[in-house]
Amino acid sequence: MLVLISDAFDGSLMDRLSKYGDVTDDKKRILEAEVVLIRSKTKVTKEYIDSAPNLKLVIRGGVGLDNVDLKYAHENGITVHNTPSASAIAVAECAFTLMIGITNHISRADSSMRDGKWIKKELKRTELYGKTLGIIGLGRIGTELAKRAAAFKMSIVAYDPFVEKSDYADMQSNINDVLHISDYVSLHLPLNDSTKGVINSETLKEFKDGSFLINTGRGQTIIEEDVADALLNGKLAGFGNDVWTSDPPETNLFVDFSNVLMMPHIGASTKENLLRIGEIVENIISEYVKN
Ligand code: NAD
Repeated sequence: MLVLISDAFDGSLMDRLSKYGDVTDDKKRILEAEVVLIRSKTKVTKEYIDSAPNLKLVIRGGVGLDNVDLKYAHENGITVHNTPSASAIAVAECAFTLMIGITNHISRADSSMRDGKWIKKELKRTELYGKTLGIIGLGRIGTELAKRAAAFKMSIVAYDPFVEKSDYADMQSNINDVLHISDYVSLHLPLNDSTKGVINSETLKEFKDGSFLINTGRGQTIIEEDVADALLNGKLAGFGNDVWTSDPPETNLFVDFSNVLMMPHIGASTKENLLRIGEIVENIISEYVKN
């Protein structure tokens, strides 16, 4: 059996998996690979599957499976696993970092000091205490974020059509009810037909004036041009973003916005998470080898 590690995993994984078979990170060996390990970079499309005649198992280290053609994989007898439980803490902390970073002007404060400027009067910070956080998509990551926001004494509301009740957030029956009252809106949505472009010029009208948007879910759940307009006209006071329409973005609309804090899709990239993902991947492969 050949295991192909196609994307970035914890460095120890190659050694740990070697007891189950040959392990390589040489993508040219896709023709021989029986198991392929991916994160978000490798796209397991129809063409990719057609180029891998021995492929039986795809393991996506992480949550979103939008980079895998699940239907075609299924038709070709390929099993697909992800590791949904591993990343929740890492991504929730990332969303929290963006929320704290944007509201405290961390990027401007730091870069102005490096430029030898003293813009103390311009940089008025805002407390999270007593503010309302609206979470769109109250799954694993949204829930971990809610727990952390509670420690900062924020009020937490959420919209998720599949969650009726939560111990951590006051559930609202539609998205606009969350947008109307939230000082911070944090997106934790999978990418699907119902979520694509859900933050657009129409829904942005429903946001509170001067509120903040955080996105660590999927880039395509927002219309970037509409978010840029909302930042320019003051509807949004700031935007913290980890996820993009493509990795890296072909055109980054936000480079000249001082009220935008950006990350290169590193929400799940903590050392601890990569280790957790590695352990889960090893368990999946050990079960696969037994059967
Ligand atoms: P999850 O499945 O536990 O939660 C997603 C929630 O969204 C579910 O509760 C679902 O009911 C809800 N939902 C689905 N459609 C909705 C809609 N139209 N409106 C409101 N809610 C809706 O997933 P999770 O582990 O919390 O991850 C959420 C997303 O975060 C993933 O799908 C992935 O896109 C993204 N993610 C990003 C990173 C990163 O590096 N930034 C890492 C991991 C995951």
